[in-house]
Amino acid sequence: MTDADVIVIGAGMAGLTAACKLALAGRKVLVLEQNYLPGGCTSSYWRKGFVFEAGATTVVGLDEGMPLAKLLKDCQIEVPAQKLPIAMKVHRTDGFVMIRWTDLDDWISEAEAFFGPAGQAPFWRACKSIADFVWTTSLQQLQFPPQTVSDLLACVRGLTWAQIKHLPFAFKTTDQLLKQYGLDQNPDFVNFVNEQLMITAQNTAEEVNALFGATALCYTMLGNYYVPGGLLELVTPMVNYVERKHGKVLMRHPVKAVTQTTDGWQVSTPKQTFTAKEVIFAIPLNNVVELLPSLAKRYRSQTMASPQLASAFQIGIGYRPNRPIDSLHHQVHLKESLAAFGVGHPDRPGSIFISFSHPDDRYRADEPGLVVANVSTHVFDPERHAALDKGPLVEAILARLAAADLIMPDNIVYLHASDPADWAKWTGRKWGFVGGYPQFSRIKPWQMVGHRLPLKGAYLCGDTTYPGQGIPGACLSGLIVAEKMLG
Ligand SMILES: Cc1cc2nc3c(=O)[nH]c(=O)nc-3n(C[C@H](O)[C@H](O)[C@H](O)COP(=O)(O)OP(=O)(O)OC[C@H]3O[C@@H](n4cnc5c(N)ncnc54)[C@H](O)[C@@H]3O)c2cc1C
Repeated sequence: MTDADVIVIGAGMAGLTAACKLALAGRKVLVLEQNYLPGGCTSSYWRKGFVFEAGATTVVGLDEGMPLAKLLKDCQIEVPAQKLPIAMKVHRTDGFVMIRWTDLDDWISEAEAFFGPAGQAPFWRACKSIADFVWTTSLQQLQFPPQTVSDLLACVRGLTWAQIKHLPFAFKTTDQLLKQYGLDQNPDFVNFVNEQLMITAQNTAEEVNALFGATALCYTMLGNYYVPGGLLELVTPMVNYVERKHGKVLMRHPVKAVTQTTDGWQVSTPKQTFTAKEVIFAIPLNNVVELLPSLAKRYRSQTMASPQLASAFQIGIGYRPNRPIDSLHHQVHLKESLAAFGVGHPDRPGSIFISFSHPDDRYRADEPGLVVANVSTHVFDPERHAALDKGPLVEAILARLAAADLIMPDNIVYLHASDPADWAKWTGRKWGFVGGYPQFSRIKPWQMVGHRLPLKGAYLCGDTTYPGQGIPGACLSGLIVAEKMLG
């Protein structure tokens, strides 16, 4: 007699998605989570009278026909999300501020005003058409990437003319898409595209394939949502659902050993050993190969090393706004890289992302009139930059945010900062790397890490597997793993 049908290691967005879908199908699920709260990089925590976001702040995927919406609808999980009027503002180095309008034509007009009319309209129309195709296909091809003959047959059976027509984009980079519309000769625009791709695909136009690149660039044209109380309110209903369906989600249960037995799996935390017929690793591939060293050789070429990865430097701010907050999310492009402080890219100026809590959200700050600001920027090669000298870095970032008129230092009520070492503790992820595996042009979609591990009854999901990035990607990987298990 086993403790569960399936043990899920990790209660992040991917693990909880898979757990919900399996619980819906009647499987007895046990989720083991090392942290004291669920959600991983999609979560929130309380400190000094404020609720801070752990990682993600922007949410897409709740529009009809998208992965997260499908999950919530299938499981009848209610999340009190509200749609935002604009996705974000982009603060350029010349001081001008662009609005990333949700409507395609509005956005084209904005882009033409800033970058000149040449090529903008056909480029963005092509991107939007690719993005719409990718989202539609994502839920039609839940056996992708194929790893077995039955996966392959299911993919072939589901093949549509639109999929065949869009296949060439899988062989192109976003850079080549820019060239096609003559936009590679517009350095201002190329810089804009690269900074936008860095927050949605974790790499730049030369590396991100056109299917993912176009989809990532059109992220702002999807419904962008705000969850009152923070993203813990998105994942808690998922935990409750698993428990309502007779599953268990155990916090403070770090998995330290996983062993295959004759009839399934043994999963051990420091205090207890659990058994199940099947196991899902909803943690990064880098962590999986440490728990299952026999797979290290098999995945050697697919497990990315620290120099290819990034973590984040994050500042959580309790703030008294000096003026109305007209957009919750802002990307601030930098004139100079923060590389001297151990963060940012040595060859590119980079950017800082700042998200405010909604001023009407009374759950995020104890005192009326205060809001929370979550600030983050990339830290490349996190193994080498684990513990950072936080003080000077915080000052440098605040100076840039003050110059963009986003944060006035005198209005800061409370502040704390986290570096890759803190991320490693919060998420348990190797080197504290976050944001998933970056897109690389040498890795085509079908060559990305698949969801079946080469051991009977062992599976993998999360932002290091297909399709990778962000809440929608992690959620889709959870849906795919459940589909592959349920057959
Ligand atoms: C600063 C930052 C900003 C971001 N911004 C956005 C954004 O605005 N929009 C967006 O869509 N995405 C954003 N992302 C990305 C997004 O949050 C992640 O890609 C997604 O949440 C990853 O989900 P996951 O389930 O794959 O992994 P994780 O969230 O890392 O979940 C893995 C879980 O496994 C647990 N775990 C690890 N090891 C063990 C173990 N041995 N035993 C038990 N449990 C274990 C962890 O504690 C964690 O809860 C951001 C990420 C960061 C860090």
